[in-house]
Amino acid sequence: MHQFIGGELRAASTGDHHDVIDPSTGEVIDTVELASTADVDAAVAAAAAAFPEWSRATPGERSAVLAKAAALLEERAEDLAQTESRNAGKPIRLAREFDVPGTIDNTAFFSGAARSLEGKASAEYSPDHTSSIRREPIGVVGSIAPWNYPLQMAAWKVLPAIAAGNTIVLKPAEITPLTSVMFAQAFADAGAPAGVVNVVTGRGAEAGAHLMRHQDVGMVSFTGSTAVGRTVLEAAATNAKRVHLELGGKAPFVVHDDADLTAAIHGAVAGSLINTGQDCTAATRAIVHRSVAKDFIEGVAELYAAVRLGPTADEDTDLGPLVSRAHRDKVAGMVERARGYARVVTGGEAPGGDLARGSYYAPTLVAAVPTDSELWRDEVFGPVLAVTTFETDDEAIALANDTVYGLAASVWTRDVYRALRATREIKAGCVWVNDHIPIISEMPHGGYRQSGFGKDMSAYSFEEYTQVKHVMHDITGVAEKEWHRTIFRLR
Ligand code: NAD
Repeated sequence: MHQFIGGELRAASTGDHHDVIDPSTGEVIDTVELASTADVDAAVAAAAAAFPEWSRATPGERSAVLAKAAALLEERAEDLAQTESRNAGKPIRLAREFDVPGTIDNTAFFSGAARSLEGKASAEYSPDHTSSIRREPIGVVGSIAPWNYPLQMAAWKVLPAIAAGNTIVLKPAEITPLTSVMFAQAFADAGAPAGVVNVVTGRGAEAGAHLMRHQDVGMVSFTGSTAVGRTVLEAAATNAKRVHLELGGKAPFVVHDDADLTAAIHGAVAGSLINTGQDCTAATRAIVHRSVAKDFIEGVAELYAAVRLGPTADEDTDLGPLVSRAHRDKVAGMVERARGYARVVTGGEAPGGDLARGSYYAPTLVAAVPTDSELWRDEVFGPVLAVTTFETDDEAIALANDTVYGLAASVWTRDVYRALRATREIKAGCVWVNDHIPIISEMPHGGYRQSGFGKDMSAYSFEEYTQVKHVMHDITGVAEKEWHRTIFRLR
């Protein structure tokens, strides 16, 4: 597969390529060219050339392109779902019912939002002047996306950027580039001028790092690990770029003694296994009241045992593979080490038979996990739920906040006061009450603390992708103004 630069598929200049692998079989399904720094330069130049026209397009014109793109994505939904499923190892049900419709809805949302950028009303804040606000795009945005939700992450990066009048160069993860290029193609087909959306398919340390440092890029938007996010911050310092970071997570899942335990058990299974646990908001740390912990652990273990691992193309498959063998081995290694300090209740192994060709790993529940352990503190990014217990509400909140991350959390209780207190005290960009995972185009997604800063989705994302200009008009027509006296003596 080629890259997408200046409105067309373009061969990379390196001649170097990367095999794209279906993680459910280990088979090569495509090859992708690896972008060189020269290809990144070409993409940034195309985006810079497109900026004057696109930034001056009326909101209505930009909205129309986004609406047309949403319709094209709808027409291409099955192709997108099949490609996403094979490239990222997603069960086809997940790709069809979550990734693709979520992307289409987001595109439709930003088609509307493009027409309703807001600012303060013009007014006279001094008797002699009228002040007004212009909300303007920044220029060329350089974006980097991870492999866990390739299509949705491409959408979260591209949509608010271009709806606000910026142009963009997106670098997807090198192992999951296919649907990002299809997404960019939909905008070109919808009438976006050449260069508005560009995709370079190179390696992080080369193409990615070059894009983050590029002097003609005005803003960088990165979703990925906290470790790489730190390097993005440093790179952005080179020309004081605006930075938007969506980083790792280690979401707490707090179950009180008055919770609907059946709901909490179902929520924990769905919240920990979505996308095979490769979700930055996935439930990873179950913090359960001691009096209900035994029932909670038994209930989750029972449902975990019934989860169907299988080929991703099979409608009946619940859980797909991890994204790669290397990642599966990392997850397995963390669970193996945990056997030395905690109790693996169920899972903790890779299935055999036909599935051994892929990078599958069984749903794994680990109880009595010490809160200073690797499994409790570090991102596993796999189908693994760690459990610990608490006695008091204060203890539950302290445990929830005892992490460097702050992306998402949930609290399970029937007590409205307990719920309200938890939503105030927990330091995270999203707190669910009696649910875990749902996202919605109208509401923001973003982190606190080392989960990053800035928001994806919703009108809040325009705060990242626009800059505010104050315009001040003199309304007196007086040449020699009173305030000039402060600076020099009037004749
Ligand atoms: P990663 O940080 O390894 O890679 C992310 C992207 O950065 C890839 O495109 C990669 O090629 C690129 N990259 C790697 N090194 C780079 C460098 N030196 N300079 C520039 N770019 C570089 O993350 P991953 O393993 O692809 O994804 C998993 C991580 O993403 C997890 O930590 C997860 O929590 C996080 N994530 C966060 C959110 C969120 O919204 N906060 C959403 C999805 C994933």
